[in-house]
Amino acid sequence: MKVLKFGGTSVGSSKNISNVISILENYGKNDAVICVVSAVGGITDKLLLAGKQAQDKDRAFLDTFEGIKERHFNIIKELNPSNNDSILSYVEENLEALKSLLEGIYLINELSPKTSDKLVSFGELLSSFIIAETMKNRGLSADRKNSQELVITNSNFTKAEVDYSITNQNIRDYFKSAKQNITILPGFISKSRIGEITTLGRGGSDFTAAIVAAALHVEQLEIWTDVSGMFTTNPKLVKQAYPIDKISYQEAMELSHFGAKVLYPPTVQPVLSLDIPIHIKNTLEPDAVGTVISNEYIKSSSPVKGISNISNIALLTLEGTGMVGIPGFSKRLFETLSQEKINVIMITQASSEHSICLGIDDKEAGNAKAAIDVAFENEIALGKIEPIIIETGLSIIALVGDNMKNHQGISGKMFSSLGRNNINIRAIAQGASEKNITAVIDEKDVKKALNTLHEQFFETKTKQLNVFITGVGNVGERLVEQIKQQKKYLKDNLKINLRVAGLSNSRTMIFDESGLDLKDWKTQLANGEKASLQGFFENTKALNLRNSIFVDVTANKDIADLYAQYLRESIAIVACNKIACSSDYNNYKELKRLSLKYNAPFLFETNVGAGLPVIDTLSNLIASGDKVNSIQAVLSGSLNYVFNNFNDSTKFYDVVKQAGAEGYTEPDPRIDLSGVDVARKILILARESGIEMNLEDIENTSFLSESGLKSDTVDDFYETLISDEAHYQSLYASAKANNCQLKYVAKFDNGKASVSLQEIPEGHPFYNLEGSDNIVMFYTERYPKQPMIIKGAGAGADVTASGLFADIIRLGND
Ligand code: ADP
Ligand code: ASP
Ligand code: MG
Repeated sequence: MKVLKFGGTSVGSSKNISNVISILENYGKNDAVICVVSAVGGITDKLLLAGKQAQDKDRAFLDTFEGIKERHFNIIKELNPSNNDSILSYVEENLEALKSLLEGIYLINELSPKTSDKLVSFGELLSSFIIAETMKNRGLSADRKNSQELVITNSNFTKAEVDYSITNQNIRDYFKSAKQNITILPGFISKSRIGEITTLGRGGSDFTAAIVAAALHVEQLEIWTDVSGMFTTNPKLVKQAYPIDKISYQEAMELSHFGAKVLYPPTVQPVLSLDIPIHIKNTLEPDAVGTVISNEYIKSSSPVKGISNISNIALLTLEGTGMVGIPGFSKRLFETLSQEKINVIMITQASSEHSICLGIDDKEAGNAKAAIDVAFENEIALGKIEPIIIETGLSIIALVGDNMKNHQGISGKMFSSLGRNNINIRAIAQGASEKNITAVIDEKDVKKALNTLHEQFFETKTKQLNVFITGVGNVGERLVEQIKQQKKYLKDNLKINLRVAGLSNSRTMIFDESGLDLKDWKTQLANGEKASLQGFFENTKALNLRNSIFVDVTANKDIADLYAQYLRESIAIVACNKIACSSDYNNYKELKRLSLKYNAPFLFETNVGAGLPVIDTLSNLIASGDKVNSIQAVLSGSLNYVFNNFNDSTKFYDVVKQAGAEGYTEPDPRIDLSGVDVARKILILARESGIEMNLEDIENTSFLSESGLKSDTVDDFYETLISDEAHYQSLYASAKANNCQLKYVAKFDNGKASVSLQEIPEGHPFYNLEGSDNIVMFYTERYPKQPMIIKGAGAGADVTASGLFADIIRLGND
């Protein structure tokens, strides 16, 4: 004999009920089958809603009632297109009784736990009746037995305790003489010893099935639901979660106790001692393997079996130096809560015994506080205990696994990966058996925490990075294209799952929590919502994805000003925008500090030398104990391009225009030609070498004509390039006469930095610098005479994009 239980979704529509019937028909061919059913999906909630509306004197309870009625009538008619009169009239009669009950609640303005149980019992009574009658209509040997006549409890309404001796006897007696092959039992509902209607607690149909399975010592209990087993974590919150094929009773109990709703926690208890396995199956996918819960020893590769969560938690904290001396303090505390029927979900106590923290359902927080304040009134008045503190809006997350006790460092991993993602932990508890580690966190962080932990313990092989790119002009566009092209490679070879979760230009922005499909990103972006800098930040923050990276591909000061906000949310920053790193020294330092404090890397390799590994090399030198003596560099790809193409047969204006057209200059060419851009770069290198310096400290001898320096607008500036051609030709002529090349050189030496146009003689490493190439020479304690030289393409959209890309990947390898 087998016991099967079908949950709300499984019996939530005529189509699903037909599935259930064919499953039962199959099972019933060879053996007797007992089938426990829930109410039609969502009906228990609707019944409670109607009750609440009636209690609140809200006539909307009638609409809710009509909705309930229509749902059942539709199902009956769809399942039984003909021959449905008797079913409809029975159900109608019951619904009339339900309506009268609601009218009664409305009149007296009160909904007691006792009445509430009576009210919700209609759900299972109706569903079980409809299913059994439909089966009979289809010629099957089926009958319904009202389990209220079998399952007997105390009068603890809404969560009654079972009297096993009477219940087991009732069940055995009934099934000894039952004639039908398939018996349908309503789950969840029961009666007290004196005949009052009771229920076994929300989700209690699972429990009914377990009680019946245990009473009859059946070989297996099957729980049929809407997912393919017990998952590594809640599949609604973590897409990567997967079903666990085998799990122990203890692990299943811990997971369900800490929120894995797929199994009602008390369900395991009746079957455990009898060694009856529980098989969780999916009604919507009957061929899926599902999960087997049993006593079998399971050797699992991961010590963590699953992760679960409970929402709506309140944390009560009791503190006081006098607590140590109060006799029986804990006993009194827990007795007080037990008298109020308040379930304590987790407890933590510091070893000093000066404080104790309890996690309870936040609906009960007010009652708990009132009761504890009364129970410890004297101690509070004497100042031995502080008045109780309540925090709400919290959640519990729990790691569960029988094998965790044999592995070191699990809690370390758990807390460091949460910390890295800026998830604040309010309290921690570890069960004495070390089968679980629980933490209390903010409700808003639950999804991120579950995904982070799931990645840490179940997907160790891949790391998900979520990038939010702002600025998809020349460079940004190439970056997106490179990501699109390399996505598969990164996943297969570097185990990095790189997703673009947000994109913005100055007009529009788009976001996708599961990563944008980059196939037609330009069209999607064009149809996005109106862009704003703060809006981009708010959306990024609200998505609250793990390993979030903000990528700034602009030259915008207002965006650089928002970096601190991003870092404070533990969102890493990758920027080619130089403004932040070359801003006031205090701001630069503050960003570095925030980056450390919030565990959010701040990478800006492309600030100097585009894709060349300049800053990374410098950081490695410094980190390994080297000291920079001096730096000499040609750092402007744009100026190099300009002076490599400028001669006595070209015009300065044309060359500058051409540099702009090829993407070698900033949108405002004055930033390059005035030397400011180069000054910013040498400033960043000086700072990264450990020197406190500001932009004003850099000596900048400009080669621009006087009118060029004074021009107010970009257009005016271009005009001066035409009118002052002679000035620029004279620079060229002088260099030529001295057999030199013109190079714009940045220097840092002895704590001082300068930028200027220089005539470089033949034989100097800078002399042959081609195109838009950059060169940096680091003279350090380890490289005193022969400098460490980095040379190569230092400008251009593609190389800058790949420099940004390299920074992003660096975060994936952390
Ligand atoms: P039923 O109505 O069949 O009893 P429930 O809604 O009570 O179904 O339980 C199934 C639901 O439990 C799933 O749809 C899923 O959202 C939720 N759930 C939470 N944690 C887990 C988990 N670890 N594994 C599977 N399901 C889970
Ligand atoms: N119908 C009840 C509920 O929704 C019992 C159950 O489905 O297990 O809580
Ligand atoms: Mg359930």
